Amino acid sequence: MSTEGQQSAIAYLGLGSSLGDRWRHLQDALQRLEQMGTGVRVLAVSPVYESPHLGLDPEDAQRYPPHLNCVVQVETTLSPHALLDRALMVERAGGRQRTEKWGPRTIDIDILLYADLMLTADTLTVPHPGLTERAFVVLPLYDLAPELTLPDGRLLACVVRSDRICQQRIWRVNPPDVAVATAQRREAER
Ligand code: ADP
Ligand code: MG
Repeated sequence: MSTEGQQSAIAYLGLGSSLGDRWRHLQDALQRLEQMGTGVRVLAVSPVYESPHLGLDPEDAQRYPPHLNCVVQVETTLSPHALLDRALMVERAGGRQRTEKWGPRTIDIDILLYADLMLTADTLTVPHPGLTERAFVVLPLYDLAPELTLPDGRLLACVVRSDRICQQRIWRVNPPDVAVATAQRREAER
């Protein structure tokens, strides 16, 4: 239950950015998820991962910049569809334009999980259909919820170790200020 006494649910959102100031887009989206209305509270944010662009054409990985991705745990009193509306509103505020399927994007927000719900509707599928296939979703989700059991009964810990996930190129990255601070510390230690 939320503080207002309304029924609330825990949901996990996947955030991604591959255009412009990627860190800023992630940061802005985090704030806007809470601020563009009531009913969403960010409880936890995963580390950020970087991975090559996966497009419709294998050449896209060379053509387009790599993506930054993280996963956010939220408590929400919004319904799944209202949460999708919030996500789309935040994408629009972040300059998201849908010109090309799986093309580069300033900000992408996907609903990965909403409580134990399994839903297939015209505009919303939960769990997100790509959840167990994408390392950039599975790894940060596992950072936040290592004990998680997916609504279909699979353990996230097993998915993380699957060949499909282990074969993907992906690396963890520090936010720019951490990178600068680390470089300065190394400089000072010389
Ligand atoms: P992608 O994330 O695959 O690049 P988009 O971000 O362009 O694709 O999303 C296209 C549409 O996918 C959204 O407008 C939304 O209606 C639909 N959709 C279906 N399920 C989900 C989900 N779980 N999370 C976010 N969008 C979803
Ligand atoms: Mg999306």
